[in-house]
Amino acid sequence: MVKVVKFGGSSLANAGQFAKVAEIIRSDESRRYVVPSAPGKRNAKDIKVTDMLYNCYALAEAGEDFRFQLKKIKERYDSIINGLNLKISLEEEFQKIAEQFTAKAGTDYAASRGEYLNGIIMAAYLGFEFIDAAEAVCFDQNGEFEADKTDRLLSARLQASKRAVIPGFYGSKEDGTICTFSRGGSDITGSIVAKAVGADLYENWTDVSGFLIADPGIIENPQVIQVITYRELRELSYMGATVLHEDAVFPVRKAGIPINIRNTNAPEEKGTLIVESTCHQPKFTITGIAGKKGFVAVNIDKDMMNSEVGFGRKVLSAFEQNGISFEHMPSGIDTMTIFVHQEEFEGKEQQVLSAIHRLAEPDTIDLEANLALIAVVGRGMRSTRGTAGRIFSALSHANVNVRMIDQGSSELNIIIGVSSQDFEAAIRAIYDIFVTTQL
Ligand code: ASP
Repeated sequence: MVKVVKFGGSSLANAGQFAKVAEIIRSDESRRYVVPSAPGKRNAKDIKVTDMLYNCYALAEAGEDFRFQLKKIKERYDSIINGLNLKISLEEEFQKIAEQFTAKAGTDYAASRGEYLNGIIMAAYLGFEFIDAAEAVCFDQNGEFEADKTDRLLSARLQASKRAVIPGFYGSKEDGTICTFSRGGSDITGSIVAKAVGADLYENWTDVSGFLIADPGIIENPQVIQVITYRELRELSYMGATVLHEDAVFPVRKAGIPINIRNTNAPEEKGTLIVESTCHQPKFTITGIAGKKGFVAVNIDKDMMNSEVGFGRKVLSAFEQNGISFEHMPSGIDTMTIFVHQEEFEGKEQQVLSAIHRLAEPDTIDLEANLALIAVVGRGMRSTRGTAGRIFSALSHANVNVRMIDQGSSELNIIIGVSSQDFEAAIRAIYDIFVTTQL
């Protein structure tokens, strides 16, 4: 059994957190490959080391004195080293970083040092080999991640190492320039490493006990999702639920490796298991609820729309010509509605309306702003009678007016459009009917 374990920034924010992490790793022999993030926030007002690096490098790039800021960053690492009683020094590393900053080595180089240095400390503390991600995580000249090349190099490199620490978030181009993934990208590195070593499990350790059924900002102490499929996860993440970087799913999904989200501060909890498919029946009919505000409905009316060949295409090309993607498109006999992101649409609304008039010649167009979309997701819905009925009766009891309903053919989700001001009430009503009343 081989496990790859990735630890997020809050799990490595100080020496105390490092000690918890080491205990987790040592308690299971199969936890052989470790992917650390940079030190995160120690409290709500703190600043992540990655952000300190970005700020510090901005000074360097502007030709200003950055040494004081860099010293502050070094202090964060020194306090971890001292707190763990390690006998290593990062003096030389920081000298090199200062030189590279002066030579304007790039924003990605600067940001990547957070993970790089944390990796050095973690390897020394655990007695594992340190492998610089720049050696084996490859990007092309345009900064695009090179999956196949990386997999080949990394597999070969890791085969030679029984236990190793590989810092997350970055890699390098062929010419050696450092390149990072987007923010939160250590999740992706963990996934790449898991695929490269053919791991049995990719454990992603963070500061929550897994994926929650609903946003804890709306529902007090929501239940944790025990098992979720990749497709369900995608639906929920798309609608705003975040725990894992979106791109972290692809490498392991292809290789059939499950991801287990775990809590460093509560290692006894099982967290959420993300799998390709499962016969494990979910505890509740629904797996999760997520949603987003800030949508506009563009309602288009035209008599005999149903019999006009190509009407839909003409309408959609008006959006395409203006570079606007649409979210949902429920339709009736003589009506059709296009849901778009308000932010994206606002600046171009009149161009889009005139393009629709020009291309599709509708009778009327009417806009409705400030809408929210809620996705109720669950593989269990397909085999359960009355799910939609329960959702809508719960919403009606909560006095929420439903403006749109869309159920995908996969029967994996039901999308409900409500007014933004009803958003929280709607989520509470759906959570109550499926979770609270079932407990
Ligand atoms: N340290 C990087 C960030 O703050 C990457 C990561 O933590 O995954 O985005």
